[in-house]
Amino acid sequence: MALRLNPRFVRKQQMHVLILACCLAFTFFPRTIVQAQSPIPKTLKVSTREIAPFVEKRDGRLTGFSIELWNAIAEQLQITSQFQMKGNVRELLKSVQTGEADLAVAAISVTSGRNRYVDFSQPIYDAGLQILVKGQAGAPSLLDGFMGLLRSPIMGQFLIAVAIVILVPSHLLWFLERRSEEGIIRHKSYFPGIFEAFWWTVSCLATQAEEMPKTVWARILAVIWMFFAVIFIAYVTAALTANLTLQTLRGEIRGPDDLPGKTVATVSGSTAEAYLREQKIRIEPFPTIKEAVRALEKGQVAAVVYDSPILLYHAANEGKGHIAVVGPVFRRESYA
Ligand code: GLU
Repeated sequence: MALRLNPRFVRKQQMHVLILACCLAFTFFPRTIVQAQSPIPKTLKVSTREIAPFVEKRDGRLTGFSIELWNAIAEQLQITSQFQMKGNVRELLKSVQTGEADLAVAAISVTSGRNRYVDFSQPIYDAGLQILVKGQAGAPSLLDGFMGLLRSPIMGQFLIAVAIVILVPSHLLWFLERRSEEGIIRHKSYFPGIFEAFWWTVSCLATQAEEMPKTVWARILAVIWMFFAVIFIAYVTAALTANLTLQTLRGEIRGPDDLPGKTVATVSGSTAEAYLREQKIRIEPFPTIKEAVRALEKGQVAAVVYDSPILLYHAANEGKGHIAVVGPVFRRESYA
């Protein structure tokens, strides 16, 4: 809960009422201290914003963890609350700072910066930032990794390299064998003679060629090529396996270290937005978490960074099965 700093002094009699009220609050809610420096009016203006599961509207009624907690305190203090809805946490805090509201209740993180212009209650909930991604948590499938490899630029370079490596010995073989009557190049013209040579070179790479060249120089070339083919195949297998593993690891966001270079959604005015800006991560801010999650589902952003309990709630409810929270809670913060 964020409260306004009020410089007015409290009169003695009113002080007793206040102390009694605070004692009640301490007894029933040991972790919640309501600080106030003026007599508590009968009705308090309370700013809030929808942020499930802390504040949500059900059947036209406000409910949720923070609302229930505040309502219980208000009941103890015998005050009624006049709720006013705000769009984001910045507006919530501003309403308290300007006196438009007496206090704010939602999922407000305590920060030293905010503490300079509003007063916070004791922490009511331990939270922090976490990452939400599309799909199930856990390792991506082998097929995903393979498709990623096919689409990667390295695949194009690899195919060009293979074509060059095969075309050079094909031409040499064609040149050395084309004149021999018993040679493996039956056609004397460039086309289709070169195709015969090409077929032989590729056959040597993948399996054993049906026939061997007949001329001396072509046989020497064949020995060199067959030896080279063994090394080449071993190298290609190793390179493809390494790239496949790399693609599998690269495609996945496992923690905050994987965020640079990706576009990440978050909620405007939140501590998550401040964190992402600080880390110079490309961000797409949205007014609500629902819109941020929608952008993630549409593939417009690679991840959503926001308060852990709120992300967990979304992943377990509306987003069940198609979005997942990954990695640790990486910036611990408390709600007041
Ligand atoms: N707990 C975060 C903060 O205080 C997010 C709150 C919100 O978006 O309402 O910045």
